[in-house]
Amino acid sequence: METRPTVGIAGLGRMGHPIAANILDAGFPTVVWNRTRDKAAGLLERDATWAETPGTLTQATDIVLSSLADPTAVESVYFGPDGLLDRARSGTILVDLSTGSPATARRIAAAARERGAAFLDAPVAGSIKAATEGQLGIMVGGDRAAFERCQSIFSTIGKAAFYLGASGSGATMKLVSNAILATMVQALAEGVALGEKAGLDLSDIFTVLGASSAAAPVVAAKAATVTERTYLPAAFTLALMQKDLWLVRSLANELQVPMPATAIAHDMVLAANATGKSGFDFSAVALLMEELAGTGESSPE
Ligand code: NAP
Repeated sequence: METRPTVGIAGLGRMGHPIAANILDAGFPTVVWNRTRDKAAGLLERDATWAETPGTLTQATDIVLSSLADPTAVESVYFGPDGLLDRARSGTILVDLSTGSPATARRIAAAARERGAAFLDAPVAGSIKAATEGQLGIMVGGDRAAFERCQSIFSTIGKAAFYLGASGSGATMKLVSNAILATMVQALAEGVALGEKAGLDLSDIFTVLGASSAAAPVVAAKAATVTERTYLPAAFTLALMQKDLWLVRSLANELQVPMPATAIAHDMVLAANATGKSGFDFSAVALLMEELAGTGESSPE
């Protein structure tokens, strides 16, 4: 019988924690590390093993998954002192599930190759619910053989894994996807502000949009949040969307691809964060647009 790989998870945030729980539930020997140890408590009670550093996590495992906030966190956890790369060896596969930069992915992949290891950039589509239910979509770039060797992991945490090509391809695909998502939400927020100020009922707006050619999964997914203004607790925060759109625009700048709608969506996310909404769900650009239109609960007396 084939022995199951030992799996390490570095980063136990909103996404990393449920991903680790699914790996554990599927019966993989599981080792975890997080900058803040407290977040591992529930997993350690259920037979996961704690690693003191990212390096010892890699040393103790065959496949390492990371789910980290932003490129600064990824740089520090991979390249920092006793980082994930330090103890990588021939046969180790490192898989970054974070939304990050294609250039960083290529740099990590090169450093992994020098050690005989493999690196996959594998950002995910879907939020906390999909992570909890093992229903993520996984966009993968890097070594094809390593992708094949990770199939049992991908099928544990996701519903589909797409192999997209060389290192950086997965990261690029995720940026394409989030650029489209952010512009759709900005358009939705503007339309809702207009309709509401003109006197339409918020829930009527969403009901009719859902039956119109503007219907989209994000419209249905955000109907209750926007209508009831329940932006907390957030699944995917405006802070993370700001980071993603910055990465999109950096790539667009590097490749000289004009993205005017994305540039506006990015600026409105910046404005939302500058007015205290960075911890809110990313759909809270709708709250900002209500404020700017002088309508909704946030309108001045
Ligand atoms: P999160 O809840 O904020 O968790 C972030 C993780 O990164 C935590 O484990 C945090 O450690 C760690 N971290 C932050 N800065 C660090 C540093 N300098 N050094 C070491 N570790 C650091 O974020 P999340 O929502 O789980 O998102 C994780 C990744 O998935 C992000 O790249 C995000 O864009 C992507 N993503 C998120 C969603 C979503 O719906 N949330 C959906 C798709 C993709 P501490 O616990 O110590 O703070």
